[in-house]
Amino acid sequence: MQVYFLGTGTSQGIPVIGSNHPVCKSEDIKDKRLRVSVWIRVDETSFVIDCGPDFRQQMLTSGCVQLDAVLFTHEHADHTMGLDDIRPFFFRQKKDIPIFAHQRVLDNLIKRFDYIFETENKYPGAPGVEIFEVKNDQDFLVNDVKITPIKVNHGNLPVFGYRIQDFVYLTDVKTIDDAEIEKIKGVKVLVVNALREEPHHSHFNLQEALDFIHLVQPEKAYLTHISHLMGFHEEVQKKLPSNVFLAYDNLKITI
Ligand SMILES: [Zn+2]
Repeated sequence: MQVYFLGTGTSQGIPVIGSNHPVCKSEDIKDKRLRVSVWIRVDETSFVIDCGPDFRQQMLTSGCVQLDAVLFTHEHADHTMGLDDIRPFFFRQKKDIPIFAHQRVLDNLIKRFDYIFETENKYPGAPGVEIFEVKNDQDFLVNDVKITPIKVNHGNLPVFGYRIQDFVYLTDVKTIDDAEIEKIKGVKVLVVNALREEPHHSHFNLQEALDFIHLVQPEKAYLTHISHLMGFHEEVQKKLPSNVFLAYDNLKITI
């Protein structure tokens, strides 16, 4: 299984438009972060988790040529605004692209991208999608790859993370129930969000993410959904435990 970090930034990305913050001005390529998403390949199956506003650029840079599904964590703009850009995959693959999400998220997408979900007189240039509702405690398949949803809380908003074999991807977490932590136990690689050092109402800060990693005890953990306020990649990495890494855009790992 291969995981490609397409984007590791928080909602505005890094650099932030118009910002003079030193991290936004950094020349280090690891300090440039697109909106958060991962591309996962298991044997012949290829899918992404989230499809934010940088999706087109991420597909071009990563060289992804096959999209078997899009799994959504939640409906916020930084995780969904690229949905229209699945068009090249839809045209080339000549079938609707499966999208998996909580019913609340599907309802939200239907409202915001009404033309994609139109059943009558649909514009021929619009992409086609096949809708699958994700329910907690119900595993599902993308081709023959088993996916386990994990419910986490983004402030008051329930959000899905996903377990695929020995890999768990969680983003936009602030709290998580004990029953959901059970689903993560024994994982080799954990990805979890860490926004910055200061606390935030709906995201783990660095210490909360490290405490969570200590609780779960994965072999390795990668931090994502990072704000420029976290600091320079190189300096933050030096402060982390030996099995914890700041993810960065275009990082590829094999599990
Ligand atoms: Zn987000």
